[in-house]
Amino acid sequence: MSNPIPSSILIVGAGVFGLGTAYALAQREEYKNTKITVLDRSGFPAPDSSSIDSSRIIRADYADYYYSALCTESLKEWRGEWGQDGRYHETGLAILMDGKNLDRGGKTAMQQEMQRNLQKQGLKAGKKEDGGQITVLENEDDVKAIAPSIPGAAGQSGYVNWTSGWADAEAGMRYLLKKVEATGRVELRTAEVKSLIFDHANGSVPGVELVSGERLMADLTILAAGAWSPKFIDLRGRASASGQILAYIDITAEEEEKLKNNPVLLNYSNGMFIIPPRHKQLKVARHGYGYANFQTIPHPEHPESGNTIKVSLPKTKYDDPYMEIPKEGQDVCRAFLKECLPDFANRPWTHTRICWYTDTPTGDWIIDYHPKYKGLFLATGGSGHGYKFVPKIGERIVDVIKGQPRDDLGTALQKKWAWPEQKYHFDHVWTNDWRGGSKGMILAEEHSRGPKPRAKL
Ligand SMILES: Cc1cc2nc3c(=O)[nH]c(=O)nc-3n(C[C@H](O)[C@H](O)[C@H](O)COP(=O)(O)OP(=O)(O)OC[C@H]3O[C@@H](n4cnc5c(N)ncnc54)[C@H](O)[C@@H]3O)c2cc1C
Repeated sequence: MSNPIPSSILIVGAGVFGLGTAYALAQREEYKNTKITVLDRSGFPAPDSSSIDSSRIIRADYADYYYSALCTESLKEWRGEWGQDGRYHETGLAILMDGKNLDRGGKTAMQQEMQRNLQKQGLKAGKKEDGGQITVLENEDDVKAIAPSIPGAAGQSGYVNWTSGWADAEAGMRYLLKKVEATGRVELRTAEVKSLIFDHANGSVPGVELVSGERLMADLTILAAGAWSPKFIDLRGRASASGQILAYIDITAEEEEKLKNNPVLLNYSNGMFIIPPRHKQLKVARHGYGYANFQTIPHPEHPESGNTIKVSLPKTKYDDPYMEIPKEGQDVCRAFLKECLPDFANRPWTHTRICWYTDTPTGDWIIDYHPKYKGLFLATGGSGHGYKFVPKIGERIVDVIKGQPRDDLGTALQKKWAWPEQKYHFDHVWTNDWRGGSKGMILAEEHSRGPKPRAKL
């Protein structure tokens, strides 16, 4: 038995989760009479959304078998039309360990699990020249050999998966938008949602209220507002926003040519990574515990009560056009560049950015109906790894909306993505996957520790 087909669906957020869902709904015969509306507070592309950037890593390298299998499906698309016109580059991904810190938090075991999952999906271990797709790197020389135009070593051991790569994230989202528009089935509106409308007597969410005061009603509201989602529903202990650092430097066309075919270099010990350059910009970043940005807001489900909750929410250049990453973040990006590309280490940042993960305790997304409110579905909790699935994610989300997984993978994913038990009894979630940086950093405190460079948006 599948869930009934709503006559109208409102989607809040036009990122990977929201727009991906809209596309999949528009493709399905069963929803042909359903009115589909996507709301985003920014015109496309939303510059501070996590789906928009110069690049995102595309990897089936997961210690979790199911995400690995889902990415293997997505990779088929990236290698086809999704990846054309420079949207996907299969240059490989090196997952490296710091020799000084070999097994922090069981990371060696996680790496081995990743390799096992890749092999379960048919990838061959061995040297590239012998047809190997996963090559083990035993020492610093091995690491240097896989990226000959990078003089330093981003780690001292690990492996490279030659079947992973990276995507031009903004170009991928533009492509998705084009596909959505071509269906002629989705209304895209630039409008900021102020709140969900709660009908407590009926235990339902019948729509949303915009900042303009307009109320939009729908049979089903899908909350896909990324790291802003905890502003609209109480997600304390289940999901919250963590700010991640990105720093970009301008390079020349010749430098780009030299660096563009290297694998993505990701140091698993400290979370630092460098993705090959795009449009003459080189990006260095950290997959970290991130910064919390606590705010006290009216309880989103009971604003009339006068109760407040404290949650971490994004702070972006929309809120402060002069905001740069804190000194701590700049220092680690420079240090990583110094290790790998010392000639670039002292160049000024073209710009820096804090980009917000929607972190959950386990890193599993939240793709489910809200257990308390009829008519409300959540598609959020990307936890820093949702982008790569953009060609496939909408289909899987719609399967959950329908309550009809298409295969065993879908059944397993639906379980994984179910509304989670509250893990922590305080708001902020520090995801324990393989994060770098220290746990517990607060954005305002970190900003107060160093000079704040001023730069134009
Ligand atoms: C720094 C960084 C690096 C990452 N690297 C990778 C990677 O290498 N590989 C990978 O697979 N994934 C990566 N990810 C994760 C991936 O980008 C995210 O999981 C994915 O983009 C999440 O999409 P989303 O739709 O949930 O959120 P978003 O893309 O943020 O979309 C949410 C949308 O909601 C809108 N919104 C917010 N408030 C309102 C409101 N009040 N009214 C209306 N609209 C609103 C926003 O404007 C935004 O467009 C990374 C993420 C970050 C931040």
